[in-house]
Amino acid sequence: MKKIQLLLLALIMITTLPVPAQKAADAKMKSFVDNLMKKMTLDEKIGQLNLLTPGGGIATGAVVSKDVEGKIKNGQVGGLFGVIGQDKIRQAQDLAVTQSRLKIPLLFGSDVIHGYKTTFPIPLALSCSWDMAMIERSARIAATEATADGLNWAFSPMVDIARDPRWGRIAEGSGEDPYLGSGVAKAMVKGYQNGDLGKDNTLMACVKHFALYGAAENGRDYNTVDMSRVKMYNDYLPPYKAAVDAGVASVMTSFNTIDNIPATGNKWLLTDLLRKQWGFKGLVVSDYTSVNEMIDHGMGDLQTVSALALNAGLDMDMVGEGFLTTLKRSLQEGKTTQKNIDDACRRVLEAKYKLGLFEDPFRYCNKDRAAREVLSQEKRTAAREFASHSFVLLKNDQQTLPLKKTGTIALIGPLASDKANMLGTWAVSGNADLSIPVIEGIKNVGGSNVKVKYAKGANIDNDTSFAKKINVFGTRIDIDNRTPQEMIAEAVDIANQSDVIVAVIGEASEMSGESASRSWLNIPWSQQNLLRELKKTGKPLVLVIMAGRPLTLNWESGNASSILYVWHAGHEAGNAIADVLFGNYNPSGKLTTSFPRNVGQVPVYYNHLNTGRPNPGDKFEKFRSNYLDVENSPLFPFGYGLSYTSFSYGDIKLSSNNLTATGNITATITVTNKGGFDGEEVVQLYSRDIAGSIARPVKELKGFQKIMLKKGESKDVSFRLSQTDLKFYNNNLVFAAEPGDFKLFIGSNSRDVKEVNFKLTK
Ligand code: BGC
Repeated sequence: MKKIQLLLLALIMITTLPVPAQKAADAKMKSFVDNLMKKMTLDEKIGQLNLLTPGGGIATGAVVSKDVEGKIKNGQVGGLFGVIGQDKIRQAQDLAVTQSRLKIPLLFGSDVIHGYKTTFPIPLALSCSWDMAMIERSARIAATEATADGLNWAFSPMVDIARDPRWGRIAEGSGEDPYLGSGVAKAMVKGYQNGDLGKDNTLMACVKHFALYGAAENGRDYNTVDMSRVKMYNDYLPPYKAAVDAGVASVMTSFNTIDNIPATGNKWLLTDLLRKQWGFKGLVVSDYTSVNEMIDHGMGDLQTVSALALNAGLDMDMVGEGFLTTLKRSLQEGKTTQKNIDDACRRVLEAKYKLGLFEDPFRYCNKDRAAREVLSQEKRTAAREFASHSFVLLKNDQQTLPLKKTGTIALIGPLASDKANMLGTWAVSGNADLSIPVIEGIKNVGGSNVKVKYAKGANIDNDTSFAKKINVFGTRIDIDNRTPQEMIAEAVDIANQSDVIVAVIGEASEMSGESASRSWLNIPWSQQNLLRELKKTGKPLVLVIMAGRPLTLNWESGNASSILYVWHAGHEAGNAIADVLFGNYNPSGKLTTSFPRNVGQVPVYYNHLNTGRPNPGDKFEKFRSNYLDVENSPLFPFGYGLSYTSFSYGDIKLSSNNLTATGNITATITVTNKGGFDGEEVVQLYSRDIAGSIARPVKELKGFQKIMLKKGESKDVSFRLSQTDLKFYNNNLVFAAEPGDFKLFIGSNSRDVKEVNFKLTK
């Protein structure tokens, strides 16, 4: 015991020791930046606030920057993004540090969202692993690869809570829950920055899109957001705050309005909340032309909105050049202040300083490291592991899965032999040609005793005008020369000759992501028609569904034997899917977003308020809160996901039913693997505050543990709860727990839980 105490003391000393050292380092940085800023002209200071993308490579917005080379030489650029590859980065950096007057190095950013060149599953998929260590590792690996190739800034993590699957960018975040979303935010920041921006294999993370971007009205991208402060603080802001608390070095503003003021020009958001309340000291960058877009929001002309943004607390202007072209005039006309310009400039220079760019502007351009790190085998192995851990098994009747490694499989569907869609949205540096398609994975993993017969069976969609919208970055929807009937006939024919059908269907990668909202969430009709014909063959029908969002799967869940939801799984999609189909890996993913039964239910999320006329039973009752034509519950709830084995839960044992303000209680439950496979289970803890000063959600996730159980094995899983876990923001935005009655639930998903009662006393 003594030894442990000593160890703890030593640990505390280690973590507290650097404080004076940190102070000294901060003072050194300050004096360096002070000296540099003394030499800078006003134009040069404003130049640092300008973030450009030269185009020619990857444009992620409608506008690309002009005369980037000239501007770099003139000291009119603080950083670039969308420049991929260290040769190009070196070239641009060389211009800055040899040709500009003060030789200030540039920042190089990119959308490293789910991997860099080695592409991992989309973030929504990764979140379904509920494995924070794995998620952290995915960011760590991405940082190692990206920094070896010249980059020092990742526009990630995207932590926008999203409860509306019509919104295509739900793919980029971690779903609907603030507690889980905060865990992911923290893990990602840790993975990218690793607590030390001074290392050459870490980069500056950028939490986005601040704030509330995921709550766009009717799921239409860039649309208005309007929300109460209580909802903001309790549900939507926690993941951004978690990133700030984890030391994220930069923040990106969002496109939407908050209280009718666009986030990019919202002083309450960027200064009062972010800097003053949360103590954020890093860099704030706009989103792509979001300064200029305030003109269309109705906030004034370019000069007005640029001054508005700077005065609100924005430091860097992405692409729009409103800062570059108007701030000087605004200063002369008294519409902004020298201090605001200086503060923003200082934050950009500090970021560069922390990254070590003043010591060596080329430190991230190291050919040896790039040769070792970029697309290394080790990263592909990780990609395969991450993918298999992110799949969610939604249905598995009669243990159709795992497949036997013998017999004949009819592998059917427009995504079964596809490489173009495997990477998913926001894989700007990933080469789709390096993807493993499902057919190849099945052959690799199934071995020589499995016979695979393949037919495309359907187009992802038959509508050429829809395909045109999706094919902006290259062909994702490839419309066959044959008629739909001919394709279906071929598929049915091979299905009839096989033991089992594996249909790989779903969304093209660009059907989700930015500017990819949908008002209809079914699998496209071309593919549904195929499925209906396959069903008629009477063969077991396994669906492997790829998508960047929850889809409405009523027919599918009623008619398929098994459904494995694989999202867009990245470079190793095919191998990972085969690993799970054949049982080399027993699926363990759990949904982080509820799956609606139809679009009319949206938004449907587990942590909703109760209403005064609740109807939790799904049976219509007049004058209760329900629909005439659909149940209230989602088709698949938050936290849901099956395994090839099954788990049973005992009753919850509480160490005490009375939680005091300074004490804690422990809830323990026995989980048993009673099926035929070893497997992992995510044990989930929820609570409900029965009565409070404001209405409280019917359930809130408060903890989870991912455990491994051998077949037949039982484990006691314990959660410790203290008053802090029960805190929330009340109507005065005070964060406090309120004494009274609570329920505590533990279970396998947000619906199927055991429950007990306890009291919080003063
Ligand atoms: C997106 C951001 C992204 C930026 C730079 C914008 O359109 O909203 O998420 O980081 O482009 O590519």
